[in-house]
Amino acid sequence: MADIKYQLEIIRSKNRHKTITLKIKNERLIVLAPQDLTDKQLNDVLIKKANWIEKQLKKTANYKNSSSHIIAYGHQVFYQGVLLTLAENRASEEIFISEAKLYVPAISLNKEALYTWYRGQAELKIPSRVHTLCENYQFSLANLHLKDQKKRWGSCSSLKNINLSWRLILLPLWVSDYIIIHELCHLKQPNHSPEFWSLVAKYCPKYQLAKQYLKENETALISFLT
Ligand SMILES: [Zn+2]
Repeated sequence: MADIKYQLEIIRSKNRHKTITLKIKNERLIVLAPQDLTDKQLNDVLIKKANWIEKQLKKTANYKNSSSHIIAYGHQVFYQGVLLTLAENRASEEIFISEAKLYVPAISLNKEALYTWYRGQAELKIPSRVHTLCENYQFSLANLHLKDQKKRWGSCSSLKNINLSWRLILLPLWVSDYIIIHELCHLKQPNHSPEFWSLVAKYCPKYQLAKQYLKENETALISFLT
């Protein structure tokens, strides 16, 4: 809870006798309280409800769009669907993963360095995955580009070019596969017709779960390192 910052607004009402109600509006916490609310009562509620407050704040767009809180040792970042804890690499200037930790030297503990590392990982892993899926399911595309797309995971052009966000590297493989398959299926069906979705289902039977995963995590993931 130490890193969670929020504005607090207390609305005291004569009509309230005992109950305290918490609401989140954007990144603000609103406390609806009785007229005679004491500081101790307020603190007790904030401590007791800390997890709930954090969870609700994380759902708000403004909180998700500000990713400055992630760049510190001890904080967590996604990598291929796994949460890694940022840890200090004191031995070298390399960034690497070991045992659920992302080791980063102090010199690289900033958005730019992490961005470069993540993009490098994406360049290493995503094109080869696209290639494998194309071979497995007999798709042929003209060009593949990894982009820094902020509003979408992927797109497909009429010239059979596919653009994918480098942030696919943050997703579990099965979700990232869904996005790739979705775009590959647009090579055959450039719309979202029932025929398109049955094609997606053929190559990615879990596509609805993947869509659900994206719906729940999309804003946070797509705004990562921006
Ligand atoms: Zn589509």
